[in-house]
Amino acid sequence: MTVNTGLRTVHVRAPGKINVFLKVGAVMDDGYHDVATAYQAVSLYEEVRAYQADDFSVSFTGPIDTSELITDGSNLAIRAARMAAHKAGYRGGVHLEIVKNVPIAGGMGGGSADAAATLLACDTLWGTELGREELLLLAARLGADVPFAFTGGTAIGTGRGDQLSPALAKGTFQWVLALADFGSSTPEVYRELDRHRDRHAQDIFPAQTQPSVDADVLQALRAGDPHMLAESLYNDLQAPALHLAPSLAKVLELGEANGALAGIVSGSGPTVAFLAADLDGALELQIALSAARYTVVRATGPVHGARVISD
Ligand code: ATP
Repeated sequence: MTVNTGLRTVHVRAPGKINVFLKVGAVMDDGYHDVATAYQAVSLYEEVRAYQADDFSVSFTGPIDTSELITDGSNLAIRAARMAAHKAGYRGGVHLEIVKNVPIAGGMGGGSADAAATLLACDTLWGTELGREELLLLAARLGADVPFAFTGGTAIGTGRGDQLSPALAKGTFQWVLALADFGSSTPEVYRELDRHRDRHAQDIFPAQTQPSVDADVLQALRAGDPHMLAESLYNDLQAPALHLAPSLAKVLELGEANGALAGIVSGSGPTVAFLAADLDGALELQIALSAARYTVVRATGPVHGARVISD
């Protein structure tokens, strides 16, 4: 069903994410891994504006260098828009203008946030009324992190990371993010993890086929306690990410020497996320890392998922 909305433009904001816990299961026959992750949506947002158009196009602006980003039909935002149109039987198109604040291939799910925001923006603009459940199904088809960018907050992800269940969380955590001037390919980081596990098969426990999220990270999130959360941050992709980009080890050291409670590579990296005790701690850390010439942004979490913004 299509309702004539009379809207000429819709603005949707969707968040980037940090995996505060990420355990990767053994590689499956199809080459994929099941994961168990705890996602936290953070206040680094993608801003998507959708305009009525006859065909499908996307353009990018914002602080992140998007000059290398392909804007043809392979862009995740265009794929999301086409998928929504196809599902709804909508015959028109959309022009998308995206302000990119989340680093590209940075391990923070920026492309996923673009896709989630686009699904909601198109459905609203076109009046196609696909509804939340249908949009979430489309989101899962677009990528493992897209459903979480849609729902936001704090959630546990299993399967490929796309089977979500909400997690209780209290308070606000203060993060300082060190952005890299290069990207990491997620499949390459997973391949490096498999190589690492093969090399060390004698010394490490074999990975579980169905990993789970440790109880202490859930307790830390429930308590809203940054000290507890710092103790339970965990990422199986950190070692392979560091192996592929050894310069990240220095960033981690510098942050921890300047008051971070803990640092962790976000997802497949190369963004490094530092957890601070409070706002003052985050500001001090931001100053120290900026003085060392790192590109640093502060963010808080958890925050809401994809949401229509009235301009
Ligand atoms: P994740 O943490 O979910 O693995 P990521 O944050 O590391 O993702 P993204 O920036 O979401 O990485 O995207 C990874 C790749 O997808 C990029 O290298 C780019 O080629 C491609 N891509 C397609 N569409 C987009 C988009 N709208 N924004 C960013 N990357 C996109």
